[in-house]
Amino acid sequence: MNIHEYQGKEILSSYGVEIQRGLTAETADEAVSAAKKLSETTGTSWWVVKAQIHAGGRGKGGGVKLAKSLDDVKRIAGEILGMTLVTKQTGPEGKLVRKILITEDVYYPGESEPEEFYMSVLLNRETGRNVIIYSPEGGMDIEDVAENSPEKIFKEEVDPRVGLQGFQTRRIAFNLGLSGLAFKNMTKFVASLYAAYLGSDAAMFEINPVLKCSDNRVIAVDAKVNIEDNGLYRQKEYAAMRDLNEEEPEEVEASNAGLSFVKLDGNVGCMVNGAGLAMATMDIIKLSGGNPANFLDVGGTADAERVEKAFRLILKDPNVKAILVNIFGGIVRCDRVAQGIVDAYKNMGDIDVPIIVRLQGTNAVEAKKIIDESGLKVVSAILLQEAADRVKEVLA
Ligand code: GDP
Ligand code: MN
Repeated sequence: MNIHEYQGKEILSSYGVEIQRGLTAETADEAVSAAKKLSETTGTSWWVVKAQIHAGGRGKGGGVKLAKSLDDVKRIAGEILGMTLVTKQTGPEGKLVRKILITEDVYYPGESEPEEFYMSVLLNRETGRNVIIYSPEGGMDIEDVAENSPEKIFKEEVDPRVGLQGFQTRRIAFNLGLSGLAFKNMTKFVASLYAAYLGSDAAMFEINPVLKCSDNRVIAVDAKVNIEDNGLYRQKEYAAMRDLNEEEPEEVEASNAGLSFVKLDGNVGCMVNGAGLAMATMDIIKLSGGNPANFLDVGGTADAERVEKAFRLILKDPNVKAILVNIFGGIVRCDRVAQGIVDAYKNMGDIDVPIIVRLQGTNAVEAKKIIDESGLKVVSAILLQEAADRVKEVLA
């Protein structure tokens, strides 16, 4: 589950990580009062207006702007709120900005230049250990740094038996070129960031930039946070941070129905039981000249109700030109699934997209008979290749 920057910063702050402080707003007037309040509490005389959407690259897309007066705050807030923000990570359709974060300006001048670093914490699945990835080249696209100067990306893996050690936080501060107070603050920053990652059952914390301010404070200016879905049952406070506006409506509906669904942009909808079979089915759709419109795993209990929900989800997508149902009858019997498909089809009545059904496993022959004798516009197949050929025919 992704959360917003302001929510990620709340978590960080609760673990003692220093952050660029801010207040959220949903109107330009709220933005102005937030800015005034921030000046009282932080002493800032400039502010930053930041769009809150679940995507990075907001700065380049025009979703992060510096305001040097309260009039600026009002004008910029008015511009950003309600805009459709397009960034590298939103796709061309962009995302509607419903909320902004007004923050203190932390790039103020002082005894030294502010410096931007990159830091993230995530799980290295190959070694089964948490890893802190960091770089002295922060603020910019880390993908570009990885591509052009990979020697500037460092990794610190944590041994789960002993946790993050002092020598490791010191090595990080050293590799970032820090000394004195900034060095000390960085070691504290890393230790608290790691504690926040562990304590919140996060899958990722990405802070870009981590800023060494001109007065040697070390703070999180940005926070991209993903909380592991499987941990949410024991992280109720963070589960409440979910923003359904930021998720694909079809995926929300699917998760409510207990279906595992990912929307894609192809033309062949698919309904499959089992993630592995779903992947194989998407491959076969590609091989027959189509493109999968979704990933959909209906799970082990493909009864009429579930099948109907799945159909309705798939059919919401106007790009869908055909639906391929590929169910392996192991625990669930194929004839019951076939009956479920026929019932769902009849219930919905208005399906004008050809459906190719491939049922294999227990009672596959009976299932094919049910489909063939239903009198509906459903084509049955037993072999996967047959199903692929039927898809090719209907797309032709
Ligand atoms: P992102 O573009 O979605 O990654 O959003 P960030 O929160 O990282 O902000 C984008 C950029 O805005 C940063 O890299 C900074 O260069 C700039 N920025 C953020 N906070 C401040 C600030 O307090 N003052 C100034 N002058 N610039 C800031
Ligand atoms: Mn950023």
